[in-house]
Amino acid sequence: MSSSTIVVDDRIDAYLLKQGRPESETAAALREATAPMPAAVMQVSPLQGAFMSWLVGFMNVENALEVGTFTGYSALCVAEALPDHGKLIACDVSEEWTSMAREYWERGGVAHKIDLQLRPAAETLDSLISEEREGSFDFAFIDADKPNYDVYYERCLQLLRVGGVVAVDNVLWTGRVADERFNDESTLAIRALNKKIQNDDRVNNVMLPIGDGLTLATRL
Ligand code: CA
Repeated sequence: MSSSTIVVDDRIDAYLLKQGRPESETAAALREATAPMPAAVMQVSPLQGAFMSWLVGFMNVENALEVGTFTGYSALCVAEALPDHGKLIACDVSEEWTSMAREYWERGGVAHKIDLQLRPAAETLDSLISEEREGSFDFAFIDADKPNYDVYYERCLQLLRVGGVVAVDNVLWTGRVADERFNDESTLAIRALNKKIQNDDRVNNVMLPIGDGLTLATRL
């Protein structure tokens, strides 16, 4: 099948890391520190971090949002690509995970660009909307609890400027979205959002097999 995507085995993955966009020392150290954690699978891959970092630079992003921060790897990659006056509002509910994130943001010299909001993300997004920040963000990354994905997507679209990009993570959900035997709450939520975005005339969208699947949607 000529339309297929290359299967990225360990050897190719290692080559991508070695020969692709350089990863900062701090990002590599954070990735290594996160790896032994039971929830490490929640971290974005180095390739995805590199892609998001490139995208944020390419778009000249100044104001960014992140829904779901975990130990801070994706936020670090985004913040490294922001200008010095740029700002990333990072939403998470875990003090434990984000304390590790803060440590590495400090170490990487990007802590001043990140505003961590430790409360349910929907509350943070709603308060930004009520502070009249609608249409003022260039980029949003959604990577939190899947049953609330639609809530995050709708709020982020409100907050994005025209031409701004929302990136939605885990849209392939290790393939479960494409397997009708899986009908748990998270799978159903992602499947429904994928269907909605496909025909959403408010955005120009593409779904890519990066990491666990990444949808990019530009606000029209
Ligand atoms: Ca994820």
